[in-house]
Amino acid sequence: MTKKLRCSAFIFDFDGTLADSMPFLANIGIQIMMKYYDVEYDEASNRYKSTTGLPYEHQVNLNFPGCEQNERAIEEFEKPKIERIFEQQLFPDVVDTLTQLNQMDINVFVSSSTYQPIIAEYFAKRELSTCFVEVVGYKPGFEKGKHHFEHIKAEHGIRLSDTLFVGDSLKDYERSKGFCKFVGVEGMFREDDFRRAGHEGPVIQQVSELLAMIEPM
Ligand SMILES: [Mg+2]
Repeated sequence: MTKKLRCSAFIFDFDGTLADSMPFLANIGIQIMMKYYDVEYDEASNRYKSTTGLPYEHQVNLNFPGCEQNERAIEEFEKPKIERIFEQQLFPDVVDTLTQLNQMDINVFVSSSTYQPIIAEYFAKRELSTCFVEVVGYKPGFEKGKHHFEHIKAEHGIRLSDTLFVGDSLKDYERSKGFCKFVGVEGMFREDDFRRAGHEGPVIQQVSELLAMIEPM
């Protein structure tokens, strides 16, 4: 076992990290790219995957800059997402892991590219809001990464250098740089993918593995 990670706070990504929602989201996201931009499945899938972790509006604007259909495509993504996101289940070990982190007095946050009211309602419906110091969602101009991390630091006095950011996408890793220590979760990306992106820290398969890796401070 490698040296334990000292930490006083966790920030969890939501989709694909706490919630098993990536197959659902990727399916909608890829279908919309195929429909609006006349691309084959493989190309749409690559374009979706390479930008996953970002809000869908950024995924579209990065992949198809300046296309007149972008606004409609983004709207069409958000509608089924809002209708069905609440059906998407948390991974089986999530509630127990959050409970144990709470018992260790570790500050737990969510930082997500899903819209703020949706993510807040998701946890409220499951009576899990109290597991978190704050659930931080996306608003235009206020994104997972720098904005959310600086908000958490300023609002709650959290030392980011003692904080672990746990996420399932390569964009999560990129956005953690210079702010928090990062833990990759395998799912859409494998350990090899995180390594190729330059991540040298831990990669886990499920969040409960974190419990044995940390030393609360
Ligand atoms: Mg994610």
